Amino acid sequence: MTQEQWENLCRRCGQCCFEKWIDGTRITYTRIACRHLDIHSRECRVYAKRFTVGEGCLQLTPELVAEINWLPEDCGYVVHVRNRRKP
Ligand code: SF4
Repeated sequence: MTQEQWENLCRRCGQCCFEKWIDGTRITYTRIACRHLDIHSRECRVYAKRFTVGEGCLQLTPELVAEINWLPEDCGYVVHVRNRRKP
């Protein structure tokens, strides 16, 4: 899969850009968005430089997506990684 194909898995829902409370395995999404998220279009306003603006944005990889538990169930990356693991 190319980087472009990988990036196209994102549904642009913006859910990962909201603050979350993590209590063990329970994840609660708050209504507090990253200051760089356009809450209407759900697009990042600084996408090209998102790793350097100091908001803790992570480069999602298949390995990281398989490890973390705070992406929503319907995130395009989560769905892809889960489907890939199916026999
Ligand atoms: S939650 Fe997943 S699909 Fe939605 S914006 Fe974030 S990475 Fe993209």
